Amino acid sequence: MSFKQFSNELNIIANCKKYGISIWQCPQFLFLIMGGVIIITSLITYSLGTRYVANPNTVSLIVLVLTTILLVITFSITRTMEGLAEANRLKSEFVSIVSHQLRSPLSNLKWVTEFLLSGRLGKLSAKHDEYLQILKDNTIRMGELVSDLLTVSRIEHGKMPLNKAEFSLLNLAKETISEFEPAAKASNIKVSLEVASSLSLAFGDVSRIKIVTENFLENAIHYTNKGGEIQIKIEKKNKNLILSMKDNGIGIPKKDQQYIAQKFFRSKNVLKRQTHGSGLGLYIAKSIIERSGGKLGFRSQENKGSTFWFTIPTKN
Ligand code: ADP
Repeated sequence: MSFKQFSNELNIIANCKKYGISIWQCPQFLFLIMGGVIIITSLITYSLGTRYVANPNTVSLIVLVLTTILLVITFSITRTMEGLAEANRLKSEFVSIVSHQLRSPLSNLKWVTEFLLSGRLGKLSAKHDEYLQILKDNTIRMGELVSDLLTVSRIEHGKMPLNKAEFSLLNLAKETISEFEPAAKASNIKVSLEVASSLSLAFGDVSRIKIVTENFLENAIHYTNKGGEIQIKIEKKNKNLILSMKDNGIGIPKKDQQYIAQKFFRSKNVLKRQTHGSGLGLYIAKSIIERSGGKLGFRSQENKGSTFWFTIPTKN
């Protein structure tokens, strides 16, 4: 190990930052703490030993052997943790690089497909049109997945700045509803909005909170059978606003509920329906809400429906 490498190893804060974890989860920092604990324990054992054991040399030897064993074990555990943290960092970096690299070919593909579909290069037969439409839909889906992966990688690296300001949660809900109106109509799903009188403004990054309302409504439409109903409510509780979205859709099986909002998790009943999705939306939504100072949760019963909710602070 060169001197530079050695001095890098000693820079604990920089190493913890590199892994994107807090100092209390950082292997090098924990090793330092454990070292301190072992030294203090050895000193206490030594002072107790000299008081109660006749031969001080025996005490010294026992303390020395125990300290060495504990140090070796701690070192090996820290090294293993370091290896895992490094593998995790490399995985995140890989996902981030691949997602970045995929973005431009995907937007080119979408642009070319749209151009062909426009008929400016000549009229298309019904079959050509159908296949190009499939190509376009799949390109859009891939684009969404890549964009979700990039957002997850930004969240994990703490690189998702929030531009907080006051905004109307009611207007945001209305915007989201009109955005999804065609999808709701296509499935004959009724969406209603109920708002408590005299609502304060919410305080957060409106563009990020929109990602959350869009995810809730997209899921509610996706996982509700044709002819269903979605009720959106906005209320005020103390210094927070609560937005809840209740559907009478397929619900979430009880044994799957503990995993909801974990990365890539999709419940069994959803997988059976073979609807597309990445299982990243709620993970992203939860991270956004928690970083905005709110909470996200849900209640659900299989085949009855689900209510997803989040809170967001007001300024006063
Ligand atoms: P995706 O919808 O892409 O699968 P999400 O992270 O948005 O990913 O949701 C994760 C999982 O949570 C879904 O796959 C589904 O199992 C469950 N879920 C979310 N919203 C609902 C809902 N309104 N009704 C039933 N299940 C839901």
